[in-house]
Amino acid sequence: MSTVEIPQEHGAQIPSSSDLSPQVLYDKCLALASNLWWSWHPEVINLFRDLDPNRWRQLDHNPIALLREFSPQRLAVRAEEMVLYSRINHAYRRLKEYVAHSQSWGSTHANVLGANPVAYFSAEFGMHESMPIYSGGLGVLSGDHVKSASDLGVPLIGIGLFYDQGYFKQHLDTHGYQNEEYLDTKVENLPLTPARSPDGNDLTVEIETRNETLFAKVWLVRVGRVQLYLLDCDVEGNSPQDRQLTSRLYGGDERTRIRQELVLSVGGVRALKALQITPGVYHLNEGHSAFAPLEVIRERMHDDGLCFDDAVRDVAQQTVFTTHTPVPAGHDRFDGVLVEEHLGPLRDQLGISFDQLMGLGRVEPQNDTETFCMTVVGLKLSRKANAVSSLHGKVSRRMWAHIWPWRVEEEIPIGHITNGVHIPTWLAWQMKQLYDRNFPSEWMRRMGEPELWKNIHQVDPGELWETHNGLKNLLLEFVRRRVTRQTQRRGESDQIIETSRHLLDPNVLTIGFGRRFATYKRATLLLSDLDRFRSLLTHPSRPIQLIFAGKAHPRDEPGKKLIQEIANTRHDSHFQDRIVFLEDYDINVCRHLIQGVDVWLNNPRRPLEASGTSGQKAVLNGALNLSVRDGWWAEAYDGANGFSIGNGRHHVDDKITDQREASSLYHVLEHQVIPMFYDRDIDGLPQQWIKYMMNSISTLAWRFSAHRMVMDYATTCYVPAAGGLSCDMHRI
Ligand SMILES: *Cc1c(COP(=O)(O)O)cnc(C)c1O
Repeated sequence: MSTVEIPQEHGAQIPSSSDLSPQVLYDKCLALASNLWWSWHPEVINLFRDLDPNRWRQLDHNPIALLREFSPQRLAVRAEEMVLYSRINHAYRRLKEYVAHSQSWGSTHANVLGANPVAYFSAEFGMHESMPIYSGGLGVLSGDHVKSASDLGVPLIGIGLFYDQGYFKQHLDTHGYQNEEYLDTKVENLPLTPARSPDGNDLTVEIETRNETLFAKVWLVRVGRVQLYLLDCDVEGNSPQDRQLTSRLYGGDERTRIRQELVLSVGGVRALKALQITPGVYHLNEGHSAFAPLEVIRERMHDDGLCFDDAVRDVAQQTVFTTHTPVPAGHDRFDGVLVEEHLGPLRDQLGISFDQLMGLGRVEPQNDTETFCMTVVGLKLSRKANAVSSLHGKVSRRMWAHIWPWRVEEEIPIGHITNGVHIPTWLAWQMKQLYDRNFPSEWMRRMGEPELWKNIHQVDPGELWETHNGLKNLLLEFVRRRVTRQTQRRGESDQIIETSRHLLDPNVLTIGFGRRFATYKRATLLLSDLDRFRSLLTHPSRPIQLIFAGKAHPRDEPGKKLIQEIANTRHDSHFQDRIVFLEDYDINVCRHLIQGVDVWLNNPRRPLEASGTSGQKAVLNGALNLSVRDGWWAEAYDGANGFSIGNGRHHVDDKITDQREASSLYHVLEHQVIPMFYDRDIDGLPQQWIKYMMNSISTLAWRFSAHRMVMDYATTCYVPAAGGLSCDMHRI
């Protein structure tokens, strides 16, 4: 009999026998859909797709929404037709085994977290396209962190917000201008269940401000072995306006923002308390949750009778802070009035003055002209802070040196752990099969080992090239389907719609660029010399083609202008339809792009890209990176595993840097990338290119994986922080 509890809507026990009544079959599918574990297991994804491939696509690959369209009887008929019974049984058994398995990397290396897990706070979680509670890199990173913690068995609880409208859907109008559309996400279509307190009631937390009490209900999402709790202000008790507080991600003004961050931080800590979870470590992923330590300090003072200073010291011992941006404007700052309104009641209980509180958020505590900065609080109230790449570490130490004016720059207490990606999430199924055929059978359990990835050099070059080209063709089909839909929606002419159906050529070197359209990412760098660009696109024997995608923040007009500039190239016949803009960049679009392009282009203005992760996803699938040596690429590039734009330096004048790097970009394309791609042997294989693909996979896949990242966090941050707790408890 099954002993592992898997959440289902009906709460029914599922018999484990192989005799499947329609209801049992349905319940098993629902149990699979109710744990996001399915989202990184291709065999389960394929199972859902096979139930109804068209609806699967139309429903954003959402298995709960799909199952809700089936009755148990219809599901049984379909399972019979498609011979799905044993696949469903098998998947269900694997999920149960996965959740129950207790021998793991974490049980050996992070055992101390068993009773007191890590509480991982993040304003966004990018788990899957069907759950739009993320906007970009930060969210996807949190999602990958949680999934790797689950796979490794590192005890961790996620804390975030539930945005019922999430991030926006992007559509371009006929002028190429971005429009935003917000859609309500139906809770009943998501793997959310109300979190229950130990007494069995639905959980609601309260946070008082100077003016009112805010209420938030708590949802539970299962991500493999990890529990993710999401707070949601759309509950009775809140004013109509506050019911919308957590509707949108980064949608509101500063007041909305501080309230969201209050709910995430203080509400999150209270939710943990109500759930009787006592974290051993608090990990603040970016400054949004930096109020959390203040609430933990209040708890310690109240529960253990500590004075403020002792509680600060103890809580900081348990707190780990990750900073994510070297862009000064990217750090949240609030004025004193907003801080007092929202933190006032907490401040009273901490027994500190307004000036003391503000001082915690200031580089110079006594400086009245400074606002309250969330990053500064995070840095001051943590035992250990880290940036997300080596170069970002250096930049961050310089940026925040004034907090510790008595220290030399090297001794500023900010280290780095370079970001990585969750391999099972981003690896194409076809590439996984190639690795399955050529790597030792248990390779998925050894993904963090450099030796393992050297096996790629034994793979037949033709096999790797064929696999890549298969994926490239799938990408082009996806692009044509999407662009056709875009043009139809805009009501464009039949001729344009017809052209969309045949866009792009699988034999042409294909370059992808997909990311947020923040201006520092310089999406249009390649367009800076239009004549030179045009001759690259339309070269008679060695042309290139480009696929762009990305959203600009709704209030970022310069970012929207860049999108427009790219989108409007399609009206210029000189470009011969070799540039495509795909609308509505999200996890799904990203996955198609990084799995199918030949080259992944990244040209941010150095050193503003803290890490970047999309290029790491491309590595796994055999694409080559062409990137400025910024973020992760500054430490990844070795001269034979991809291509470098510029020389890893930058000029103080942005204009000059931009000019030099544009010219370097053209030069590298003309003299390295394009010749290497089109240099074929008698079998049509680009031998040198394939060698680079293999070098890229063998030197980078393990290093820039989320498994390596989470292991680094566990050994260098979590375990020492949790150890600090047990010492303190001895003292008490
Ligand atoms: C991976 C990913 C990102 C991160 O992109 P970078 O620009 O490389 O940091 C952003 N958005 C989505 C949807 C992603 O999947």
